[in-house]
Amino acid sequence: MFKKVLIANRGEVAVRVIRACQELNISTVAVYSEADKDSLHVKLADEAICIGPPPAIKSYLNIPALISAAQVSGADAIHPGYGFLAENSSFAEICKSSEITFIGPSPQVIEKMGHKSLAKKILSKVGLPVIPGTKEPIKSEKEALTFAQEVGYPLIVKAAAGGGGRGMRIIHNEKDLLRSLQVAQAEAHSSFGNSEVYLEKYLEEPRHIEVQILGDSHGNIVYLGERDCSIQRRHQKLIEESPCSILSSEQRESLGKMAVKAGKTIGYQSAGTVEFLMDNKFNFYFMEMNTRIQVEHPVTEMVTGIDIVKEQILIAAGEKISFTQEDVKSRGHSIEFRINAEDINKSFLPTSGRILRYIPPGGIGVRVDSHLYTGFSITPFYDSLLAKLVVWGRNREEAIIRGRRALNEFIIEGVPTTIPFHLKVVENAFFQRNEIYTNFVSRRILCED
Ligand code: ADP
Repeated sequence: MFKKVLIANRGEVAVRVIRACQELNISTVAVYSEADKDSLHVKLADEAICIGPPPAIKSYLNIPALISAAQVSGADAIHPGYGFLAENSSFAEICKSSEITFIGPSPQVIEKMGHKSLAKKILSKVGLPVIPGTKEPIKSEKEALTFAQEVGYPLIVKAAAGGGGRGMRIIHNEKDLLRSLQVAQAEAHSSFGNSEVYLEKYLEEPRHIEVQILGDSHGNIVYLGERDCSIQRRHQKLIEESPCSILSSEQRESLGKMAVKAGKTIGYQSAGTVEFLMDNKFNFYFMEMNTRIQVEHPVTEMVTGIDIVKEQILIAAGEKISFTQEDVKSRGHSIEFRINAEDINKSFLPTSGRILRYIPPGGIGVRVDSHLYTGFSITPFYDSLLAKLVVWGRNREEAIIRGRRALNEFIIEGVPTTIPFHLKVVENAFFQRNEIYTNFVSRRILCED
């Protein structure tokens, strides 16, 4: 087992990983930028090392600084969290050549799944349904027009190297197509350093359903049920639930089996997520695989009782998954609300400033994962996630009621947050009836359609 783990991340996820390490009796090393010296992860870790100035490229993305921090502190493994270097295969490779275990899958698997069209190609070969799309990045306008004629509009253009809902555009007609292609390629180049884009059929009113899997180095792969992440704004998740309560147990099982098949096909070892879109006829289409822990993993933990981060660490240390598929039982319903430092009256503009008062909610069925405390300063350098409010109830209805209660109880003063947005969602009759799909927020809450 590892003696010391360095957490190459910040914010709530760094805190989350430190907690898992503490329960496993592993020492922790926090790294921080100059902007984060007073961060909670710095206070909670056994040691902390400053790795550079505030811009992420100079600190949390600075591979030489991270590797030397690990070497100086004698860490035998690095947990990347999510975001930053979590899906960077060369970072995983460099860890390996520096004899530090990267807590995640192999660099080859990260590389393959990081390329969306390659991932689809590999998994469609073994029978996973995929959304009709171009198999290779678009090389000419003619190619794009031919594809559009074959499958019809609407279409979506996606950056091959995209992520976090960025680099996507919906296309309704031929005129849109040519314009959007150019813009998307330019955007992809500036955001991801890779201008490759591809086209896909755009599904209308789908649900985003994803499956949590765990694979170990002994050939075992299990699935921990699904999450419904349909409540999104601009393709970015805001609320996630487990289970997706409109699925029958047969549908759930066949979805789980598809995810396990994906994992087996690529020899997956670690915690990972297989993402699908589901149309209104309950057809599933593989969308992509995330080779890391996800922001929304706690809803799965709440219904299964399994600590996914602990399992992930144990797997990286060569241990077997501590349970079998038959042991996995989902109980009740869980909902996560992402509370961001954003002003919902200004198109969700990210905000910064000092937290003047922070009082998280409590009581039965309430979990808050956060790095906040009164007096902490939110800087403009990183993403706007402040806290994840995760609630559990015996059924979806109870989880919603508990969510509303906890949101009302939650006090964060000093910066505007998305709490008022979440309160609107939990009050919404369509949400309460579970009539949700990926454009729910724009149509039912923000009334943009
Ligand atoms: P990212 O990696 O940037 O998160 P994904 O491929 O996971 O991107 O897609 C994010 C979201 O974009 C999905 O949850 C869905 O809302 C929307 N989306 C992506 N592809 C399609 C599609 N073909 N049809 C409809 N919506 C889509």
